[in-house]
Amino acid sequence: IPVDPFDLVIFGGTGDLARRKILPGLFRRFCTGQMPSEARVIGAARSEMSSHEYQQMAAEAIREFGGGRECEDGTLDAFLERIRYVAIDARGTGGWEDLQKLMAGTGRIEAYYFSVAPSLFGDLAERLQSYGMADDDARIVVEKPFGRDLATARELNNTLAKYFDEHQIYRIDHYLGKETVQNLMAVRFGNMLFEPLWNSQFVDHIQITVAETVGVGGRGEYYDKSGAMRDMVQNHLMQLLCLIAMEPPARFDPDAVRDEKLKVIRALEPVEPHHIVRGQYEAEPGDAENQPDYRTAVGNPRSSTESFLAMKCHIANWRWAGTPFYLRTGKRMSRRSSEISIVFKDTPHSIFGDEAGRHRNVLSIRLQPDEGITLGVTIKEPGPGGMRLIDVPLDMTFADALSHDDVETVDAYERLIMDVIRGNQTLFMRGDEVEAAWAWTDPIIEGWQARGEVPKPYDSHSDGPDAAEQMMKRDHRAWRKV
Ligand code: NAD
Repeated sequence: IPVDPFDLVIFGGTGDLARRKILPGLFRRFCTGQMPSEARVIGAARSEMSSHEYQQMAAEAIREFGGGRECEDGTLDAFLERIRYVAIDARGTGGWEDLQKLMAGTGRIEAYYFSVAPSLFGDLAERLQSYGMADDDARIVVEKPFGRDLATARELNNTLAKYFDEHQIYRIDHYLGKETVQNLMAVRFGNMLFEPLWNSQFVDHIQITVAETVGVGGRGEYYDKSGAMRDMVQNHLMQLLCLIAMEPPARFDPDAVRDEKLKVIRALEPVEPHHIVRGQYEAEPGDAENQPDYRTAVGNPRSSTESFLAMKCHIANWRWAGTPFYLRTGKRMSRRSSEISIVFKDTPHSIFGDEAGRHRNVLSIRLQPDEGITLGVTIKEPGPGGMRLIDVPLDMTFADALSHDDVETVDAYERLIMDVIRGNQTLFMRGDEVEAAWAWTDPIIEGWQARGEVPKPYDSHSDGPDAAEQMMKRDHRAWRKV
């Protein structure tokens, strides 16, 4: 179903994110007919270039990063024809009148994507208003990082609030745009089976792992000021935790969902220092030149920023009292994998005796590399070997069906951009959620700083420092294989 005609201005339209995700994503929506042919995409960035040159840049980006969907001949040209470019200075006046003229009186939905450094968010918002482009119906989309602590996030919220109402602000967390994350909500709240078991009485523990194989790459300078806690846990892992832990919202609507997520964040207990393991990766043996250790990669030999984090969290409410949530994320790990596992308790009594083996049900929600939801169930091993039990995965995503050409796969960014146009904020973070998440994170980071804690080294392409395994062992549990 096509969305209503829109004009989407991409501030930072020549940047990495615009080329890798936003432009290819919009093109795919154009191919399916969801982006209407009257809609326009307007790149706005610092470089001087013509619309024609920007269209060429967009075409190259789409060829390089477009992936997947083949379009009919001529569709790319038709898409490029919908693209304009304005050279703009976010901090000055250059280009703003041109943009104003381009946007005047079109009657289309107006959306402004702030794909620039967060230090420019305030300048952009202020100028959108002073040049008369911040009408009540306009939307702004802001990228991460949203602040680096509670004070900066609050300041950013206050700045944006001077020019835009909360219902106009779309804070992106692309993890929420993933198909499986939404399917998680469908599985949880669309079935009778799970919800009665979804609590500390039946769930032993929950694990959320987001593992990357890459190191900090060219982002070293930025990353070293941030670290795994700010870069991954405060936003992505926290959002996933909220969707698992929240109470059923009364309706699937933006504020109902976000109210429930906020309650989870506010119920998170402070984390004990001995329930946290921080790590920094070592160089790849034999390839230290291309894959150096963390400190070399970020150019800071005394860095105490973590590239790995494992922690045990508790949610102090009736549903989850006593059930640990183990979070783990890191760079240069053994595999690229993001997975949430809900590990159910043992059956109270095994009627098959111990030799049959004790088994646990595990509901696994995989976000990457292959999205999918599986439920590990115990069955009898087929054959004449007597009553032996084995675990088999029950695929709940119909992966085979999804790979058929007629079922669309939609990237997180393109789904979220279409939600912006539709005016649906369900999958975007509200200002108070972001602040609550920082309010929980800040004391943890301040504690590390006050105690002068240094992360533990871990082997490149491993599962992190041994201390992370030991933390689980002490609880008689183990991390699931990434
Ligand atoms: P980038 O450095 O590749 O691009 C920055 C863009 O901002 C360029 O188009 C540049 O022309 C424009 N710009 C800079 N100063 C300007 C000014 N004064 N006036 C007008 N335009 C100006 O950055 P990026 O990687 O595309 O990231 C953009 C934003 O998205 C950042 O907030 C980043 O943290 C966030 N983000 C990026 C990624 C990613 O994969 N690249 C992922 C998540 C979040």
